Parts: sequence; C-alpha cells; structure tokens
Amino acid sequence: MSVIVQNCRTCGGQWFPARLLCPRCGGADLAPKSIERGVVEQLTHLGDVVIASVACDPEPLLVARLHGSVEVGDVVELTDRPGTSGRPGPSDHPGASDRPVAFVPPSGRPREELS
Ligand SMILES: [Zn+2]
Repeated sequence: MSVIVQNCRTCGGQWFPARLLCPRCGGADLAPKSIERGVVEQLTHLGDVVIASVACDPEPLLVARLHGSVEVGDVVELTDRPGTSGRPGPSDHPGASDRPVAFVPPSGRPREELS
C-alpha cells in the first residue's frame, strides 16, 4: 500500500496533489515517489467518519480518511485505493500489516497553483 506524491529533484520538496511546478523552488523536475506510511497529526470526527492530516517524513501533509482505531501520533499505512469493499483494510491488501489505514483519494491531473 502506498500513495504516489511528487518529489522535486531540485530542492527535495514533496507535494500532493501533483503540481506543474514545485511551489518552493519553481523547478519543473518533479518525479513520482511512493510513500507508504505517515504520522497522524490531527483528527476530525464527522459522525462515523474520521478525517486526519497525515505527515509524511515530514511532507507532504495529506488529508486522509482513516479506517481503524487511530490517535494523534500513530503511524498509519497510506493507500490511494479504496479496496474491493469500498473500505481499505488489511483484508483487502495481502501482506499488509495490522496498522490502521489512511485512504488518500488519488489526485487528478497536475494543477497550476494560482496563489
Ligand atoms: Zn523544488
């Protein structure tokens, strides 16, 4: 399980969703990079749904839907696949650990930052 982010080969910045240019250095030499885990920084409970910001070594900061019992500071597995049941989980991913899962919807095409 993993999520694909962009890695700037010029400054080392990591971004999600994909960008056309690096927001830090303006470089265009961006390569896909697979990230498997992150650390939960904040949690928001919306009924039965738990949304978290997940820091990935230390960037990017991803917004993900959590599955499993998670607290701030926990390490979670990242995935961009919802799984066959619509809920990611160890049963949907052979070989996965028992860690909670953070689902990050895949990003579309790179978008230009307007700011
Ligand atoms: Zn850069």
